[in-house]
Amino acid sequence: MLKVEDLNVYYGSIHALKGVSLHVDQGEIVTLIGANGAGKSTLLKTLSGLLKPKSGTIDYLNDSIAGKPAQAIVKSGISHVPEGRRVFAEMSVEENIELGAFLRTDKAGIQQDLGKVYDIFPRLHERRKQSAGTLSGGEQQMLAMGRAIMAKPKLLLLDEPSMGLAPLMVQTIFEVVKDINKEGTTILLVEQNANMALSVANRAYVIETGKVILSGTPDELQASEEIKKAYLGGH
Ligand code: ATP
Repeated sequence: MLKVEDLNVYYGSIHALKGVSLHVDQGEIVTLIGANGAGKSTLLKTLSGLLKPKSGTIDYLNDSIAGKPAQAIVKSGISHVPEGRRVFAEMSVEENIELGAFLRTDKAGIQQDLGKVYDIFPRLHERRKQSAGTLSGGEQQMLAMGRAIMAKPKLLLLDEPSMGLAPLMVQTIFEVVKDINKEGTTILLVEQNANMALSVANRAYVIETGKVILSGTPDELQASEEIKKAYLGGH
């Protein structure tokens, strides 16, 4: 579904992605694991058109999307939930959720999905008339996920959905990730919480200072002493 080859991305003179290659197959949950500053967010931003690569290829559903404008990429079915939540503070919770469906015209389907978002996150239903800027951090994270569900993407790019959340909420968010995937959305998941990410993923890539240093199934990664020590809190 998605194939990235030899991708190079710079911020001015900073070489943030150094020849990254990876692929995501239809129906998979693939996770990207790496320390702060490794380049994970940079990769997602490049896939969704927020950054332009200097070189390399990004093929998505047999189309080359490297360097395409973000609007065109959204239209082709890729949705990005960025790190740090980004809600429209002055608008209500419900207006924020509905914004996710801005490219859809199936009114009945939109209403149905709104109901689904409220089933998953009852808290958002309680707060639906409230301005989004007054939500707690965790609630804003739920809102960002809800907006992404409304977009019905083919490929969902999730940047650290568990960041700053209480343990119970982290569990809920990962359940939601699995549910969204079961309903047919392919997922590329960036996570600091590597243990959680590996528990839901089909495959993983480990990225260090702009390079993919290892890839494999969760079992393969968990079997590596080096990975256990560096990322999984093992000894
Ligand atoms: P984190 O988990 O901390 O978010 P990350 O793996 O997502 O880390 P990136 O945000 O992709 O890392 O950053 C990769 C590198 O690019 C870092 O060295 C970072 O300092 C640098 N970088 C990111 N954004 C910019 C920017 N706007 N200008 C200059 N350098 C940047």
